[in-house]
Amino acid sequence: MTYKLTRCDLQDLDRKDPLASFKNKFLLPDGILYMNGNSLGPLSRRAKERMSDAVEHEWGTQLIRGWNTAGWYDMPTRLGNKLSQLIGAADGEVVVCDSTSVNLFKAVSAALSINPSRNKIISEVGNFPTDLYILDGIKQFSNNNPTIRIKPRNNIIEAIDTETAVVVLTHVHYVSGEIFPMDLITRKAHEMGALIVWDLSHSVGAVRTDLNSAKADFAVGCGYKHLNGGPGAPAFLYAAKRHHQTMQQPLSGWFSHKKPFEFNDDYMPADGISKMLTGTTGVLGASALEASLDIMLEARTTDRLAKVLNLTTIFQNLITKQCSGLGLTLASPENPADRGAHISYRHSNAYAIMQNLIKRGVIGDFRSPDYMRFGFSPLFMSFEDLLDAVEILREILTTKSYLSPEFQVLNAVT
Ligand SMILES: *Cc1c(COP(=O)(O)O)cnc(C)c1O
Repeated sequence: MTYKLTRCDLQDLDRKDPLASFKNKFLLPDGILYMNGNSLGPLSRRAKERMSDAVEHEWGTQLIRGWNTAGWYDMPTRLGNKLSQLIGAADGEVVVCDSTSVNLFKAVSAALSINPSRNKIISEVGNFPTDLYILDGIKQFSNNNPTIRIKPRNNIIEAIDTETAVVVLTHVHYVSGEIFPMDLITRKAHEMGALIVWDLSHSVGAVRTDLNSAKADFAVGCGYKHLNGGPGAPAFLYAAKRHHQTMQQPLSGWFSHKKPFEFNDDYMPADGISKMLTGTTGVLGASALEASLDIMLEARTTDRLAKVLNLTTIFQNLITKQCSGLGLTLASPENPADRGAHISYRHSNAYAIMQNLIKRGVIGDFRSPDYMRFGFSPLFMSFEDLLDAVEILREILTTKSYLSPEFQVLNAVT
């Protein structure tokens, strides 16, 4: 599709957008163009109401009874079943709990437990750091002495061999947005007798993800990015049903027990996906996430995915048109179908430019050493927003206002 990309064209696209009404479900501050939903999704009206209800009515009046009367106890599986619809999983294959890092520890350990005669783990150079750090932790504490092979992206496929126990990859790269071909790599892993764990942190809610059709083994992902679950929202863990019997995981807390309320000294794992739980659910965080999932499930998947493609394509075209010669280099794949719902550009002054953009109300983020990252949400962004953002960026780049000392101060969280 080609657009002339005048303001009129973009307004026309907004009028025809089947998801246009979703913007009003979010509580974005005036004057903010939010392009960081891939790092922390915004607050929705429903999440706000749901949280205050969970605090005042459920915790406030139900007290301990809430575990039964307010549906707290089955939140991990109830939310998991909602989330499964976004990632091509079946009922009973997903739990919502803990953080992505913790779930990755459990998922990779479970995969190793199914493939005990092998001990090689493969991952990617430049994967999201926590994923590599967790693998390092597994190496330190696992008794079959795993070896970890971190390979450049282009060598992953050939590195998967008959000694490989588990392949651990992030579906959409957190900087470049590059998408790994899930079907192809999963198939290669299985041909070699290996298992695969996919990290869907930047995919879920924004990119086509079909775990069961790819025959994936395990997956984990984040609740606070495109799912808009709120800061530190619980994450999720998927385990294919065929592994439920055999898989074992090391963080065998009481919520993963077959009968937690019999308070036995002896551990007996639950039968299904609940085996992957650990301890008590963070009910307040899970409440906000559930409200956000409900919003996402109201948007048709085909509409969501098509809008992400349109938003990223148009943003890229606007940058090419308005900012060429101003020092930006695209650091994401050229082809929209090869990347997820964010785009990165490199610039030698990336940090200061992003600080200047944020001051002007365009919120994206900076990733070391010189990347500016812009995220695209199908639910709360309009096509006209893109033009506003690019015009501000062009002005900052042409006037070099980013050279001002106030934009050089390094924050703790970028
Ligand atoms: C955001 C992200 C995480 C976050 O992990 P936490 O445990 O929530 O801090 C993990 N992996 C990837 C690939 C991510 O993008």
